[in-house]
Amino acid sequence: MKMQRGVATPAIILALVAALVLVFGLLVMEKSRNFQSNLQQEHQVANSEDIFEWRMVTSWPKNFPGIGMGPENFATLVDRMSNGRLHIQVYGAGELVPALGVFDAVSSGAVEIGHTGAYYNKGKIPASPFFTAVPFGMNAQELNAWLNYGGGMELWREIYEPFNIIPFPGGNTGVQMGGWFNKQINSLDDLQGLKMRLPGIAGEVLQRAGGTAVNIPGGELYTSMQTGVIDATEWVGPYNDRSFGLNEVGEYYYYPGWHEAGSMLEFEINIDAWNRLPADLQAIVEGASQAINEDMLDEYTAQNAIVLQDLIADGTDIRPFPDEVLIELKAISVEYYEEESERDATFAEVYDHYWSFYEKVQAWHAISELPLYLIREQ
Ligand code: CA
Repeated sequence: MKMQRGVATPAIILALVAALVLVFGLLVMEKSRNFQSNLQQEHQVANSEDIFEWRMVTSWPKNFPGIGMGPENFATLVDRMSNGRLHIQVYGAGELVPALGVFDAVSSGAVEIGHTGAYYNKGKIPASPFFTAVPFGMNAQELNAWLNYGGGMELWREIYEPFNIIPFPGGNTGVQMGGWFNKQINSLDDLQGLKMRLPGIAGEVLQRAGGTAVNIPGGELYTSMQTGVIDATEWVGPYNDRSFGLNEVGEYYYYPGWHEAGSMLEFEINIDAWNRLPADLQAIVEGASQAINEDMLDEYTAQNAIVLQDLIADGTDIRPFPDEVLIELKAISVEYYEEESERDATFAEVYDHYWSFYEKVQAWHAISELPLYLIREQ
């Protein structure tokens, strides 16, 4: 009995150990299968089921025609293209942050996305106006060509990167009007002491020409003109200027918008928020931005043409700036670009890049767009 037990005991122990190893091995295999399947599930969820809720702050009154509808149309388009996986709530100026506080809110990550004009960021990035509009610069068609096929986009993203922002085109107003004036501009002398709402580099140019430039959010322009806080203001063009009632508080409506030959707006996205999006949602955001960029230009072209007829019918005093004034403003603008290039290396880099494209596209348009426009007038 003792001997039998002695032989049986090691055999039982061996069998038990083998069973344990088998069970353990099966458990490990099962666990690993589960882990892999969990991973696959997680991967799948991040790509097709996660819902992203973003907040977008803007520099415009909520639902303002044109520029204020750009972010709304973008949010609607992204929602539909993503089947609701990226939902963007749009806030008007002052609802979450002030009109001119969009850049800081996106940069800090307080919100995921913003819609504004790059030239409002001039205090932080002196070269930023090249990505909205600069005096005597490129129009919408030319600016889009530079961005999409001339290297402008890469440069734009490079200069925003230190602020943790990735920018996208956000609509274009086309050529703007010169603005509403409560005194006539017949010569350079008339710019002396003129107090005008004029943002971006154009404001610096006016200062050098003897005027005083201020930057006031669009929503305050009517009152500022009515109370005489300013003598003149530019805003956008017939469509938007009438929305604010500027035709009621400005006596003379001057053209052309030498300061904004085609102002592009921008979507600014916080880079951390951008990196959290799966690739397909990133592609949807990119595609929607291009669509809105073109759509807004189409809307402005159509609506400006319609509202211009209404302004003419109302007897609005529409007049051109004298050539000598424009020629002088252009000379001051170029002087400004050159001086600022000496002062700021990034400005110099962007200016050189922009201007080298500008000269080529100008030469092309001199024998294409321009002669056609002129002959159509005959
Ligand atoms: Ca403007």
